[in-house]
Amino acid sequence: MPPKSIIRFLSKILLHNDWECWEWTAYKNQDGYPRFHFCGRDYYAHRASYELFVGPIPEGMTIDHLCGNTVCVNPTHLEPVTREENLYRRWRSYHAALEREEYVSEPHEYEHSFGSF
Ligand SMILES: [Zn+2]
Repeated sequence: MPPKSIIRFLSKILLHNDWECWEWTAYKNQDGYPRFHFCGRDYYAHRASYELFVGPIPEGMTIDHLCGNTVCVNPTHLEPVTREENLYRRWRSYHAALEREEYVSEPHEYEHSFGSF
């Protein structure tokens, strides 16, 4: 990432004193995932953050938010996983939430986000 883009990237992050997540304040897509544009391309900001602070994301891997907060771009909260692992984790947390009856009132909204990446 070019230095000018790095400065712009960092300016989009809001750090909360009492919250470890780095909140993305700029553009997000319709599914709520942060987006960042540089070098003529549109990237997921959490993927850009991982590559900026940690290193290249292995081919074919997706980035999982360990904190479960989709607007977070803190690289220590991000982990490259296979698409299957990511789906499995979502499925697991979806069913855990169902057991807690968190999503019973709005299942369609959550199911939409389930297939959105
Ligand atoms: Zn986080």
